[in-house]
Amino acid sequence: MKYISTRGSAPALDFEGVTLAGLASDGGLYVPEHWPRFSESEIAGMAGLSYVELAVRVMTPFVEGSLTQEELRELCTRAYGRFSHDAVTPLVQLDQQQWLLELFHGPTLAFKDVALQLLGRLFEHFLAKSDDHLTIVGATSGDTGSAAIDAVAGRERIDIFMLHPKGRVSDVQRRQMTTVRAPNVHNLAIEGSFDDAQAMVKRMFNDADMAASHGGRFRISAVNSINWARLMAQVVYYFAAALQLGAPGRKVAFSVPTGNFGDVFAGYVAAQMGLPIERLIVATNVNDILHRALTTGDYSAGTVTPTAAPSMDIQVSSNFERLLFDLGGRDGAAMAEQMRGFESSKAMQLTNSQREGAAGLFSSARVDQAEMAQAMSWAAECCGQTLDPHTAIGLYAARTAGLDPATPVVTLATAHPAKFRDAVERATGSRPALPNRMGDLFERSESFSELPGEYEAVAEFVSKHATPSS
Ligand SMILES: *Cc1c(COP(=O)(O)O)cnc(C)c1O
Repeated sequence: MKYISTRGSAPALDFEGVTLAGLASDGGLYVPEHWPRFSESEIAGMAGLSYVELAVRVMTPFVEGSLTQEELRELCTRAYGRFSHDAVTPLVQLDQQQWLLELFHGPTLAFKDVALQLLGRLFEHFLAKSDDHLTIVGATSGDTGSAAIDAVAGRERIDIFMLHPKGRVSDVQRRQMTTVRAPNVHNLAIEGSFDDAQAMVKRMFNDADMAASHGGRFRISAVNSINWARLMAQVVYYFAAALQLGAPGRKVAFSVPTGNFGDVFAGYVAAQMGLPIERLIVATNVNDILHRALTTGDYSAGTVTPTAAPSMDIQVSSNFERLLFDLGGRDGAAMAEQMRGFESSKAMQLTNSQREGAAGLFSSARVDQAEMAQAMSWAAECCGQTLDPHTAIGLYAARTAGLDPATPVVTLATAHPAKFRDAVERATGSRPALPNRMGDLFERSESFSELPGEYEAVAEFVSKHATPSS
């Protein structure tokens, strides 16, 4: 499989190339040159497979030329062996129509583990082949950082530098990052906001001097959802859920708590591959740029309002570009121009073909704090389920979407409630307990470096501690 950039001018790369690169060199995002498509009988033949075998079937077309099926199976077996539930992503029934797909049984209690446990092993596999070394630099508002650190801790060919805004992540999130003791893990608590940390990371990706002035060359890559391999791994659980609910004979809808548009874009990919999806509901909190874009065509960024669902407190959704590119006839030059306009004015209008294309599969909802709390109470009363704030937003959107009662609706449960226990306690009055396997999180000692919110200080720290590439 070859991958092309949404902005049309970066070279096409194979799967290994896009995994190690992260972002395309023209500033665009990589997408497969075409969508692989399964026939109805091929999809029917996937019913009853184990999660690992299903993952191999769904992902094989995307990795062709870079991994054999045996290698892919081996990597998936190890990645999903880290999950605490045999089904990896179990499906739970709430009532006649509503279901939850629990994506939080990985090591750090959020759905990011599903993709990052595999991505860490993909990095290691490809680096061993080329005898090279990789430096991962990322900024996190919580969930990506802990999942990425768990996935690469102790791996010899990788250094990871994870920036978090000092004092602005939850105590569980911070401890999940800072209590991992491995020589290749570097936690940096940065003065300032998440956006400040993210801006430093972006600058570092373009800083040729950083390496030169410290006498080495670094191969830098990304672990956020601009990396195609993450989205690919997430396509699998859409198949897993739909097959259990009767696909390909029956259509299923999904409600997805959305921030950077990565998780819900994976649902779009599943639909392109032939999975019969009735509807994808994009659930946002009050940071509703995607809801406005999908309902009015106006994609314009405001300022971020902090909420109880911090992983959705986003104003610019990187992966939306992948959808607009695909719906706009895959015209890289036009996409590059549309994004240049957005980058200069922080606003753009969707074209008619983008709006109409999106309307065929997506709907959206904006869910505020009171509605989120209402969904939490409903799940507790009807079914004894405790939801995290992100999942509650998805469920509220699912229950108010007005779908045919015969269509099952699956809400993606993106985090374990204990990961956001302060917010859950505020909304429901009861405090969820950490799962047993996390029991000693608050006894372990923490290690992180505190740095001022200055780019130079961060660049110097990374240069000093990273291993140059060969
Ligand atoms: C990352 C995250 C989201 C948002 O996912 P996107 O792929 O960025 O849309 C939602 N919920 C939780 C708990 C998350 O960690």
